Amino acid sequence: MSEADWRLTGQEKYLRGVTLVWRRYSRYSPDWDHDHCAFCWAKFIEPPAEDCLREGYCTEDAYHWVCADCFADFRDRFEWVVLKESEGAG
Ligand SMILES: [Zn+2]
Repeated sequence: MSEADWRLTGQEKYLRGVTLVWRRYSRYSPDWDHDHCAFCWAKFIEPPAEDCLREGYCTEDAYHWVCADCFADFRDRFEWVVLKESEGAG
């Protein structure tokens, strides 16, 4: 991976070292039906649709989403802590 990866646009500011949870996509709010991977802009959508992602890694508040590919590519660089859903505070 090079420094010039097109997907990197300053996400270190808000995603470095954060805790991520693998989760089925759900809307952030009732009038918000989709999100994008913070890196490659792959689309997460509810209800599920073709060519869109249904699951991914998200921050604990479900605000930022990262697809599996980008997670694999950037996990070392961003030093993410991965929480299993069952270990969460809920
Ligand atoms: Zn991605």
